[in-house]
Amino acid sequence: MKRAGDVSRAADVKSFPPLGVIGGSGLYQMDGLVFQEERVVETPWGIPSDPYMMGTIGSRPVVFLSRHGKGHRYLPSEINYRANLAGFKSLGVERVFSVSAVGSLREEIVPGDMVLVDDFIDLTKQRPMTFYGDGAVGHTPYGHPVCPDLFHSLSESCASLGLSHHKGGTYICMEGPAFSTRAESSLYRSWGADVIGMTNGTEARLAREIGLCYSTLALATDYDCWHPDHDMVTVQEVIRIINQNVRRANEILLHVLGTVSQQRKCHCAEAPLNALITDKSRIPKETRKKLEFLGLLGN
Ligand SMILES: [Zn+2]
Repeated sequence: MKRAGDVSRAADVKSFPPLGVIGGSGLYQMDGLVFQEERVVETPWGIPSDPYMMGTIGSRPVVFLSRHGKGHRYLPSEINYRANLAGFKSLGVERVFSVSAVGSLREEIVPGDMVLVDDFIDLTKQRPMTFYGDGAVGHTPYGHPVCPDLFHSLSESCASLGLSHHKGGTYICMEGPAFSTRAESSLYRSWGADVIGMTNGTEARLAREIGLCYSTLALATDYDCWHPDHDMVTVQEVIRIINQNVRRANEILLHVLGTVSQQRKCHCAEAPLNALITDKSRIPKETRKKLEFLGLLGN
């Protein structure tokens, strides 16, 4: 039987652009997501890591993607980042929250802590970094890589839930899959980096190219190898921390997805507007099709 609230709730779901979530190591599904359907998406860059899980949280439509695929099947270098982000865009997603396990490069970022990342240093070498190319040249502004609105919303949610977090931090994105050497780890610390991971720098850059908002909730699993305690950590301890992190991440996601503003107030959507330099009439047909898929050709 329908209740009076059902009509307005249905209207709200329809008018609210879906919110995207990318889950990293340990977070292969979202607790609390009222599941509706799995959606397999094909993009001009191929198939995303997994089907998108479509559902709702409260009155908000939400689209969840497992970054490494269920069962953790893709190396950081093997993930099809372009397909993952293009897939979100094709589903009408405008804003993406990323949840990621990271290593800590700071004494004060204790394993189990949450860090709201606000900058990246990208050291990756073996993965496509752009939707441009093949006859289309574009340069996208990327000086402030994280969406300030999503960052603020994540911070508010952590505060509302009484969860301590580090507000701001620089994420070093390395190629992997092996972890860093002590010399590398010390170098990154000297650069002012706070956490280290293998995926989010790539995602943030590609998201900005296509005008998606992107923000990272980083969950520290352990100290990187610079720390004297690094070699003392047991596998059981790391698993305990990951499980704790996943519970907290779910708690924060449920809160932030239910409270984030309905419309975007940031400028992330404007990033692609003046990026393309190439004369559109000279862009090859196949490349035009790809850019049109992303809405990057304008009118
Ligand atoms: Zn934004």
